[in-house]
Amino acid sequence: MKLDLITLFPEMCEAVLGESIIGRAQKSGAIDVECHQLRDFAYDKHRRVDDTVYGGGMGMLMKCEPIALCYESICKKRGAKPHFVYMSPQGKTLTQKRLRELSELDNICVLAGHYEGVDQRVIDSLIDEEISIGDYVLTGGELPALVFIDALSRMAPGVLSNNECFTEESHWGGLLEYPQYTKPQVWRGLEVPPVLYSGDHQKVDRWRYEHSLINTAIKRPDMLAKKELSDSDKAILNEFLDNVPLTS
Ligand code: SAM
Repeated sequence: MKLDLITLFPEMCEAVLGESIIGRAQKSGAIDVECHQLRDFAYDKHRRVDDTVYGGGMGMLMKCEPIALCYESICKKRGAKPHFVYMSPQGKTLTQKRLRELSELDNICVLAGHYEGVDQRVIDSLIDEEISIGDYVLTGGELPALVFIDALSRMAPGVLSNNECFTEESHWGGLLEYPQYTKPQVWRGLEVPPVLYSGDHQKVDRWRYEHSLINTAIKRPDMLAKKELSDSDKAILNEFLDNVPLTS
């Protein structure tokens, strides 16, 4: 997977992407991430990438040409036309499902906006998709871009030790993950559920699935409402609900 990030703060992004799992994945060649300084594609002597907004109002807007030149240089370098994503609070909210679809692509280019955002003509003529990381506004697109690149990269082959590392996690199959425990077996009087150290793998799998369903019912009933539940799923949830103490 080849990822290009267009930003005014490449050093900040490189520092984050150079650490931990994503940093190791870059070193091993499992992913190839490059950060590009948008200012390098500014054509005036002050290297300006922004200007005032037509119609008046506060703030500045990112200009078209430097973005177009930067994207075109990436296309040339990659020998391909990467799927071009603009991180924007106006985009569709990022989901695991969309990440899964995008992880099939070989080349993705991400644009991190700043100021008031970017000239609409860039969005209309160059951008394939606007993606938001939630219904709130940040000062710049670097953090959203890093969130997107991190979430995408961990699904690339060879980044995590095996596919179960992400298929067994929250959101993959429409459920949240089950509760997890580590040593010691008893901590301040609180015990790990005995089935988890029973050595019976079938029982452990069953417990995990049941608690994944219950966890989702408690924390994200909206997710459960979208999932097709089998008769045995419904029986697990009904039994759980029957045992929930009533509060007045
Ligand atoms: N004027 C824009 C609007 O109201 O839609 C907001 C611009 S915001 C201050 C500056 C940049 O931060 C955006 O161009 C975008 O790249 C990024 N950004 C802010 N919030 C975001 C979010 N929730 N998801 C993705 N990107 C975001």
